[in-house]
Amino acid sequence: MKYYSTNGNAPIADLHKAVVKGLAEDRGLYMPQEIKKLPKAFFDDIQDMTFQNIAYNVASAFFGEDVDLDALQDIVYDTLQFDCPVVKVKDNIYSLELFHGPTLAFKDVGARFMARLLQYFIRMEGKSDLVNVLVATSGDTGSAVANGFLGVEGIHVYVLYPKGKVSPIQECQFTTLGQNITAVEVDGVFDDCQALVKSAFMDDELNRHMKLTSANSINVARFLPQAFYYFNAYARMKALGKADELVICVPSGNFGNICAALFGHEMGLPVKRFIAANNANDVFYNYLQTGKYEPKPSVQTLANAMDVGDPSNFARIYDLYGKSHERIASLISGATYTDDQIRETMRQCYAETGYVLDPHGACGYQALVDGLHEGEAGVFCETAHPAKFKEKVDDILGIDVEIPERLAAFMRGEKQSVPMTKEFSDFKQYLLQQ
Ligand SMILES: *Cc1c(COP(=O)(O)O)cnc(C)c1O
Repeated sequence: MKYYSTNGNAPIADLHKAVVKGLAEDRGLYMPQEIKKLPKAFFDDIQDMTFQNIAYNVASAFFGEDVDLDALQDIVYDTLQFDCPVVKVKDNIYSLELFHGPTLAFKDVGARFMARLLQYFIRMEGKSDLVNVLVATSGDTGSAVANGFLGVEGIHVYVLYPKGKVSPIQECQFTTLGQNITAVEVDGVFDDCQALVKSAFMDDELNRHMKLTSANSINVARFLPQAFYYFNAYARMKALGKADELVICVPSGNFGNICAALFGHEMGLPVKRFIAANNANDVFYNYLQTGKYEPKPSVQTLANAMDVGDPSNFARIYDLYGKSHERIASLISGATYTDDQIRETMRQCYAETGYVLDPHGACGYQALVDGLHEGEAGVFCETAHPAKFKEKVDDILGIDVEIPERLAAFMRGEKQSVPMTKEFSDFKQYLLQQ
């Protein structure tokens, strides 16, 4: 499979290059030249297949030309050592729990898959240069990537995160690991971290000094595997007899997760329509209403992993539908919620159903409550375990969310990070000394 850039000004790349480079030379995002449809027989039997088996079929369609199939199966099965169940919350609303992985959030799948795929390519190449992964995080990306890559030989990871803007529980998941993981604490907001990473990739001197690659949701190896979730959601809903008019609702920040769902749709996944649920960062919501995409600085909210003012993957969605606002708005609708509304949703849902939502999942749940039509069944992604946002959830619901042991283990570790300004010259200097 070949990959082109959404900016249309970079050479066509193969999968290996797209994964290693992350971003194309013209700062565009890589897109597969072709999206293969899966055969009807696959969807006929999908309800009887396991998550792992479904995922292997989807992965083969995307990556089968470029990765040895036995190795690919190994990568998929190593990545998905946990389930992603669909849980009924009320009426026709179901939660797709994407938080049963190592760091209790959905990014675990893309992160682990990418780490293993990169390792596969490094081994194939037989070179011994260290590969350096740079990743900007507003919270959950950092923990997922750090844990996905932890101990993977030949790769060093730098996690850039905004000082004071991620929860203590999130922070400990990438600052306490040591080994091949370095946490960089940036005096700025998430968009500053992302800008530092993007500038580093464009800097010739730095690229001569060290081999750099990204692991943000822009990387094809990170965002595409998230499509596995949606095929599994369809399979489990089909088994319940609820898949005929299926609506998928994705709480969105950088729009990688929903973008993967849309790729699944292009592969033939029978979903009727999609909803992108936002917090107060409403750039995409506004685009749907007006047809104008106007990025703005991110604002801090309760659902902080969605605090993105200029979602990178918008470029992919725009490209996927031929830059047509009409096509985009007819398949995807939007929703936006303030922190007050998020609190209210969490309280109401808990009182009514006993289901504990985290602030991100709450946006998804509420968008279905508000937007589901007669006859439709809706699945929203519960993108993180509520314990990852324990202080907030406990405070809002007046309960004591139990911390799973996996999370408690991180919290016992010692925090280590490198302080950094938001100036690229400082960051560059630091990297040149490594
Ligand atoms: C990353 C994240 C999101 C947003 O996902 P995108 O792919 O960036 O749109 C939502 N919820 C949680 C908990 C996250 O970590």
